[in-house]
Amino acid sequence: MTKIKILGSGREVGRAAIAIEEKERSLLLDYGVNFDDADRPIFPMHIRPKDLDALVLTHSHLDHIGAAPSLFISLKPKIIGTRLTLDASRLLLMDMIKINGAYLPYDGQCIDEMLSFSDATDYEESRDYGKFSVTLKDSGHIPGSASVLVEVDRHKILYTSDINTIETKLKSSHKLDSVSADTILIESTYSTSNHPDRKETEKKFYDDIIDVVENGGVVLVPAFSISRGQEIMSVLEERNFPYPVWIDGMIRDVAELYVKHKEYLNNPELLSRAMQNQRIVKNWGDRRKALREPGVIIASAGMLKGGPSLYYMKRIADNERDGVFMVSYQAPMTPGRKILEEGVFEDGNAHIKVRARVEWFDFSSHTDKNGIIETIKAVNGLERVILVHGEFDGQFLLSKEITEKTGLTVLIPSNGDEIELD
Ligand SMILES: [Zn+2]
Ligand SMILES: [Zn+2]
Repeated sequence: MTKIKILGSGREVGRAAIAIEEKERSLLLDYGVNFDDADRPIFPMHIRPKDLDALVLTHSHLDHIGAAPSLFISLKPKIIGTRLTLDASRLLLMDMIKINGAYLPYDGQCIDEMLSFSDATDYEESRDYGKFSVTLKDSGHIPGSASVLVEVDRHKILYTSDINTIETKLKSSHKLDSVSADTILIESTYSTSNHPDRKETEKKFYDDIIDVVENGGVVLVPAFSISRGQEIMSVLEERNFPYPVWIDGMIRDVAELYVKHKEYLNNPELLSRAMQNQRIVKNWGDRRKALREPGVIIASAGMLKGGPSLYYMKRIADNERDGVFMVSYQAPMTPGRKILEEGVFEDGNAHIKVRARVEWFDFSSHTDKNGIIETIKAVNGLERVILVHGEFDGQFLLSKEITEKTGLTVLIPSNGDEIELD
């Protein structure tokens, strides 16, 4: 009997970890972490490495890969992902060791060992591991990201992981239309709302930047190192932004990796051009220079929890000519959220009332309510829908709507639940 075990991402966003079990052997789909308020990693439920035939990493966000090296301490299960996901995972995991190393049950050596047992797999290429046949499909979320079609016994299980249904500067939309599967495990990060039109968001973002810069100000864009930073680089480059754009932090390393793996990009020329025309911050002298003239600074980290964005924020917070434009979700308790909600920037003992212009833009790389329903409708032969990677209240409302529109049974499992497919 085929069983699906929810080890993480049950009624929560992130910490993705789904095991598919057949005759006491398992295939693990993602093994990620979340972070608590004190920034300590929270692991998914345990699985014995010796029961695993393989582990699939769908993409390089820490909520999908952060716990994976802990499975490679004594045994070496096979690891599967696209070439770009595997390379970007190394960067992200090594960075996590730098920041959270004290709380992690693994070190850099485990990461190297894990990645040396990897099978880099292309989209649409099928591979067999024990009784499981695995095919990666483009999930549209970030460069290199994949959904996974698992064939085992007489079942076809589609795990979407994080998906996007719209085209962005970096990525085309997902390629899940007309896939055949009896079971879909689908993300539900945005289960009750729809995103505004992306083109309009880009236009407003650009116009507002021009506004600040033409008045002699600097705009700080705190951005995630992976994908969002490069998306913003591309948005500015596409419009030939006529002022300096500075890039600081790991955003540059990831941009280099993306340009190297350009087959995963929607518009590789645009990002290459951005890399040539925009300025890389190499040292403290550059940081001061970036603040001296009107322009844009794209710096990690996206929620201002660390990284060079903190340095810049301290210097522009008090200046009403400057701006801080946020381009991603700001989690509760983060400095970014505090700036948005209370207009106050806190860092250690510093408590600064923000006089710079504060804006937030929806550049999400997750699909929305309509996108989830469209994705489900476009899969052939579905018998059941399993919602994961979302908050329960929203999932509950979404499940009613899915059943109304498709007639399908919808499950909303918690962590620890097992779903039997026969
Ligand atoms: Zn995720
Ligand atoms: Zn993700």
